[in-house]
Amino acid sequence: MKHMKTVLILEHTEEVFDKLTCDVCGAESLWDENWSDKEHEKINTTISMEEEESLPSGGSAKITQYHICPSCFKTHLAKWLESHRKAQPTVASSLW
Ligand SMILES: [Zn+2]
Repeated sequence: MKHMKTVLILEHTEEVFDKLTCDVCGAESLWDENWSDKEHEKINTTISMEEEESLPSGGSAKITQYHICPSCFKTHLAKWLESHRKAQPTVASSLW
């Protein structure tokens, strides 16, 4: 048996994800935050800073993010970090 019920549907506007673009070159991802162009692959980049304050009376948080495509990550950001500060990335790998 198919049961039906009456629900109230209000018209409203809501902020929903549209697209993700690279803050450096403007490239657009095909799959929300996944930069890969293949359905069976996933390439995410994360450059963010979270600042949070928690007090008994309340708190606040501020998140600053850069969205950067894998190409700009490798050719601009990584190269800059490695050449200016001799920084090395933390790399973790896994197989399944
Ligand atoms: Zn880019």
